[in-house]
Amino acid sequence: MKTINIAIDGPAGAGKSTIAKMVSAKLGYIYVDTGALYRAVALYITENNIADEDIEKALAGADVSLRFVDGAQRVFLGDRDVSDLIRTPAISMAASRTSAIPAVRAYLFETQQKIARENNILMDGRDIGTVVLPNADVKIFLTASAEERANRRYKELAEKPDCPPYEEILQDIIKRDYADMHREISPLKQAEDAVLVDTTTLNLEESAEAIIKVINSKIG
Ligand code: C5P
Repeated sequence: MKTINIAIDGPAGAGKSTIAKMVSAKLGYIYVDTGALYRAVALYITENNIADEDIEKALAGADVSLRFVDGAQRVFLGDRDVSDLIRTPAISMAASRTSAIPAVRAYLFETQQKIARENNILMDGRDIGTVVLPNADVKIFLTASAEERANRRYKELAEKPDCPPYEEILQDIIKRDYADMHREISPLKQAEDAVLVDTTTLNLEESAEAIIKVINSKIG
């Protein structure tokens, strides 16, 4: 049976994961956050102090996998659930760096394609519509201005004890955008046949609605 594949790409902090979760719950599809795979690989490389030239070999023993518990994605290194450990600024930056290494992308390519072959999915990342699922049924490029993305992140972190200043968050986002868009392999860019959804002035519900509209117009 052919599965339905929806690709959502875009820069860090555009609200991809929150919005994609809302949309996939409505559609009854599995939501796949591919950033978590890159983060898990970055954690593995960091924890084991692996030098760049040894990464290809070392990945054979990394055993990164996704499991779905009540529809929610958890990411594992072997039998260890690292879903929470990977959500730190240090791992964000490490993932941005290690995701530019060809061996890392090659390692995760097949994992992502297999999930898409076997399930109706909404998959988010940077190169899903361009590289991983070039034949996806629907492609969306989700973005928002860097300032608005920094603003949202700042509000999210404001409650926490060591919230970085707004300016630092903005600079991190700009740095990550640049690295993701300018790397040689699978750079972040809008696929030619992707529909652009800009959420700068939209709240979460409005963003989810905009995406559902696009999906319905393509496969409804
Ligand atoms: O989406 P998230 O911020 O969790 O992704 C972490 C990092 O992983 C990104 O900055 C990006 O460099 C990388 N990534 C990627 N390709 C994907 C998903 C994430 O290169 N499909």
